[in-house]
Amino acid sequence: MTFVLTPPAVAAVPVAGREPGAMFPVHRIYCVGRNYVEHAKEMGFTGREPPFFFMKPADAVLPVAEGSVGTMHYPSLTKDLHHEVELVVAIGRGGRDIKAADALDHVWGYAVGLDMTRRDLQGEAKKQGRPWCIGKGFDESAPIGPIRAAADCRLGAETEIALEVNGAVRQKSTLGKLIWSVPEIIEHLSAAWELQPGDLIFSGTPEGVAAVVAGDTLAARVEGVGALQVRLVGR
Ligand code: MN
Repeated sequence: MTFVLTPPAVAAVPVAGREPGAMFPVHRIYCVGRNYVEHAKEMGFTGREPPFFFMKPADAVLPVAEGSVGTMHYPSLTKDLHHEVELVVAIGRGGRDIKAADALDHVWGYAVGLDMTRRDLQGEAKKQGRPWCIGKGFDESAPIGPIRAAADCRLGAETEIALEVNGAVRQKSTLGKLIWSVPEIIEHLSAAWELQPGDLIFSGTPEGVAAVVAGDTLAARVEGVGALQVRLVGR
């Protein structure tokens, strides 16, 4: 077999706490919508609805190594770029129809990520009943910190997830406030798609989403998992 073009590089994210250069190859990026009550409310929704999903292309990841500051370019077409800090679940073992009780056996590790959103374009898509791709799936729309092996993470209901912009707290919550837990997300997701090693799942954002502009520095963290710093620059 011969490729008629040079095959694209595999999207990959650094792994924390392993030998230098260890990378996690990315297969797909799934995202959960409205998975914290207070965020659902700020987006105009109430009540527990079944989880719903959207995707970003694998090469939308913007990996940022531990201790360094990544650079994200302010995307085209928007005047309302929003941050959404999220716990990211990295799948190590695939499967379909995975039960919640078995779901954590499929998790390789966790990271902190940003589901960056062109909110004005997403809003327009919602209004028109169109896909969210242009609002959610653009280049560099998924900044992500190093992935830490699950055995090295301590996650619980009180685990803090937070985002600061230029040193001011914008989002702060705990993982106990997730509407659908990580095992429940995996159960629902694997009923719809066969999960594969290398899949990433952005598990949803707490309240406090807001706009950022070129020049802003975003600092995200999930306690016991890791941190992520990104500076937004003009195009
Ligand atoms: Mn999100």
